[in-house]
Amino acid sequence: MTSRASDYKADVVVVGGGIVGLATAYAVLKKNPKIKLVVLEKESQVGAHQTRHNSGVIHSGLYYKPGSLKAKNCLDGYAKLLQFCRENNIAHEICGKVVVATSQAELAQLEMLYQRGIANGLTGIRKLNGIEIREIEPSCSGVAGLFVPQTGIVDYGEMVDVLKQKVLAFGADVLMNQQVVQIDERSDGVVAQTQNHVVFAKNLVSCAGLQSDRVANQTESAHDLRILPFRGEYFELEPSAKHLVRNLIYPVPDPNFPFLGVHFTRRIDGTIECGPNAVLAFAREGYRKTDFSLRDFSQTLSWPGFRKVARNYWRTGLGEYHRSMSKAAFVRALQKLVPEIEEKHLKPAGSGVRAQACSRDGLLLDDFEIRTSGRVTHVCNAPSPAATASLAIGEAIADLVADIA
Ligand SMILES: Cc1cc2nc3c(=O)[nH]c(=O)nc-3n(C[C@H](O)[C@H](O)[C@H](O)COP(=O)(O)OP(=O)(O)OC[C@H]3O[C@@H](n4cnc5c(N)ncnc54)[C@H](O)[C@@H]3O)c2cc1C
Repeated sequence: MTSRASDYKADVVVVGGGIVGLATAYAVLKKNPKIKLVVLEKESQVGAHQTRHNSGVIHSGLYYKPGSLKAKNCLDGYAKLLQFCRENNIAHEICGKVVVATSQAELAQLEMLYQRGIANGLTGIRKLNGIEIREIEPSCSGVAGLFVPQTGIVDYGEMVDVLKQKVLAFGADVLMNQQVVQIDERSDGVVAQTQNHVVFAKNLVSCAGLQSDRVANQTESAHDLRILPFRGEYFELEPSAKHLVRNLIYPVPDPNFPFLGVHFTRRIDGTIECGPNAVLAFAREGYRKTDFSLRDFSQTLSWPGFRKVARNYWRTGLGEYHRSMSKAAFVRALQKLVPEIEEKHLKPAGSGVRAQACSRDGLLLDDFEIRTSGRVTHVCNAPSPAATASLAIGEAIADLVADIA
């Protein structure tokens, strides 16, 4: 291949300028500032997809199976995130959250969460009865609950902007509007091509979120996985109802479903969001109910694993669609936690689309999945709490690539 004026030579090229990609770039450069690094991002803004469309919660590590990558990286990433926010004056707050069981049937699952929190090393988790729930959240009703003091809030959009500045300050390039369309592995390196740049690098790390399977399929790494997109829609509380929620109120999650259930979140800007639900999206980057991509939807339907997911989760899925189409149904889910909430208290807010990897045999991957083969590393599954865990994930990947660069 002959060199063009727009060619770049680098030690490491990172595909995707979301929070995981930029945290990886930052960690690689911190570990070895001499490294020449290029980030390729297909949008005009960093963090344009999951990173700027999430709930803004700093997760504590309560939910995750002890010993899993999620548990390890969430706890590790939590500490690194707080330090990063303090050092860079990023607004954040550790306000704690309550997880609320609204029926006797949820008590066993609540106890399981408590045990997980303890096993994951969380201190200060308190079991609550109905009266104690109301002392923390006066409008919340439940038969029992947990108070998790470590949970916090932050704007991940602000965090990714600061990460970009840090990466640039090391002398790296962050190239916007550059979609990687082809990756070639060679004996002396990797070649990543966009529509107008060719980057030759010794190592490539892909952190492409909702497109991670497609980027992985440009190499040999992940033909056994497909991203299923699940849109999460939010409402916001009208100012007249904001007094009903102080901080964060979560239900006990369905153990068979990889999402946490609609909840209340005070955001760092003071608004209170309700949601997100989880409906199968017809477009990977479609934020409106009507968004449809023939390519995306047909790739979902044709995936063998999707049929099994559809068989296993059709009942839950129908409930989620019902809550998506009917505000009254969405409100009923919220009323289980805060009975005074009424339809008139809610106005539509944004939405986000989660990238959830699904195996060929229909397993929705619960844990983070990061694969390295030769000079190429793919982050194949980085759902929640990957924003919380991003700095830890970045350091783990930096350990893989910084030395061999
Ligand atoms: C509704 C919702 C709520 C959530 N709530 C929380 C929460 O409260 N707390 C938490 O910790 N986590 C939360 N998460 C999860 C968290 O947002 C994600 O795990 C995290 O943002 C993943 O970061 P990422 O960099 O992997 O993906 P993304 O932010 O999606 O970034 C991937 C980037 O890759 C780019 N890209 C894709 N393909 C290419 C290509 N071919 N070439 C170049 N660039 C490409 C994309 O444009 C994008 O910018 C939530 C997610 C959603 C959707």
